[in-house]
Amino acid sequence: MGSASRARLYRTEAIVLRRQDFGEADKILTLYAPELGKARVLAKGVRKPKSRKSGYVELFTHTNLLIAKGRNLDIVTQAETIHSFLPIRRDLVRTSYAYYAAEILDRFTAEGEENPPLFDLLLSVMFWLSDADDLDLALRCFELRLLGYVGYRPQLFRCVGCGQSMESETNLFSPGHGGLLCGRCGEGERGCNEVSPRGLATLRYLQTKEYAACRRLTVDRATHGELEILMRRYVTYLLERRLKSVDFIDALRREEAASAVSVLEER
Ligand SMILES: [Zn+2]
Repeated sequence: MGSASRARLYRTEAIVLRRQDFGEADKILTLYAPELGKARVLAKGVRKPKSRKSGYVELFTHTNLLIAKGRNLDIVTQAETIHSFLPIRRDLVRTSYAYYAAEILDRFTAEGEENPPLFDLLLSVMFWLSDADDLDLALRCFELRLLGYVGYRPQLFRCVGCGQSMESETNLFSPGHGGLLCGRCGEGERGCNEVSPRGLATLRYLQTKEYAACRRLTVDRATHGELEILMRRYVTYLLERRLKSVDFIDALRREEAASAVSVLEER
């Protein structure tokens, strides 16, 4: 192999965030990789019925790729699956949570921005969602960390208006200000969520402790419901869009599995 062709090949590990049909037999994969950040590549021939080595194109798969630089899109030339996260793929609820994790990471990142800690976090959440008993807890841990890495760490300890430190009493959370507001600063503010003492204590714990400690926490359903509403509102506010994975998760909870699966089809 000459040096010219060697320079046109590169190797990377990556996780598949999203995929889309292309042409007759190909797919375009949106990957997240440690040094590339988010990148789109072409996977040729993977939709042919007899394509044997196509497991690496499955969503959320952690894979090792050899990629050739292309004129428009780079092209996968070799692939080796590192982790296929079968527990996620075999359980529709786990799938829906992984889908949310992949979707928010996709929405909060631009192509070609290197962020190795974010890759590590994405890889971690796939392990968490593979074996967690409390999937909501795992997802909130991921979400809080991701928001920190992309510059939107919610302020859960001080009032974002006046800076005073806040007790764990019932407080207001303002998506627009990215954190808590005290009674005085929150007066007349629209679009705030009330956050209960228990909800706030839980969020603070999840934001500041290692996942190994967080996963031992027992969170009741009411608190999970409260935190889910709060975090979804914050994320939706930041992204200025509704997430497809939220519809997917909610459809599953209403036991509309068929319509949930249809959400998963290529976007
Ligand atoms: Zn204040």
